[in-house]
Amino acid sequence: MGLNGAMTDARGLVVIVEDERAIADLQRLYLTEAGFGVHIERDGIAGLAAIRRLRPVAIILDVGLPGLDGIEICRRLRESGDWTPIVFVTARDDEVDRILGIELGADDYLTKPFSPRELVARLKSLLRRQSGPESSPLLSVGAVSIDLERRRVVAGETVISLTSTEFDLLAKLASAPGRVFTREELLSSVWGQADYASGRTVDVHVAQVRAKLGDHSPIRTSRGVGYAAVDDD
Ligand code: CA
Repeated sequence: MGLNGAMTDARGLVVIVEDERAIADLQRLYLTEAGFGVHIERDGIAGLAAIRRLRPVAIILDVGLPGLDGIEICRRLRESGDWTPIVFVTARDDEVDRILGIELGADDYLTKPFSPRELVARLKSLLRRQSGPESSPLLSVGAVSIDLERRRVVAGETVISLTSTEFDLLAKLASAPGRVFTREELLSSVWGQADYASGRTVDVHVAQVRAKLGDHSPIRTSRGVGYAAVDDD
């Protein structure tokens, strides 16, 4: 067992579901060095069972898997109320579209080939974001209210399902209504370490939040600068 011994690992257990042995072994090496416990499964059905049995702090999920694919695993977890943070690992652009298309709390993704250091940075950032806000628990801007403790967003009278990243982005903008946040500020605040993301990442996520909030979206574009959440026009 040795490196698989989860109990002694300070940062908690990560379940990796990955059918390519070399990739899984590399992920294990870096995660172990970073202080995580690691459990690896090589097919989707065993992966889902392990996640439910072991209750990891985070999941590294390959999309293309035998048995059950990564997106289906995510869907089943979210359906059963399991919101453990997930980093998807994907080999193809069309898979990225599928990940971005699901509204299931999909948290982050990396496209193969990726650097294992980047994977660790993403994972830490995800867990840091999950560890909870320190400011006031309820924000409201325009017709949108944001419960920071329950991580729940209501627009008008509708509960809106946002991914973890989308939620953090909206919460950041709503933390100072009217203030324009630059893309760089949003990158460093929401994504933690900005070296793997870009201004385009911000734009894509803002577009997703807007689409989900529809007419209730309080987000305004400050051309060439960034974004703000405003109370009213
Ligand atoms: Ca695969």
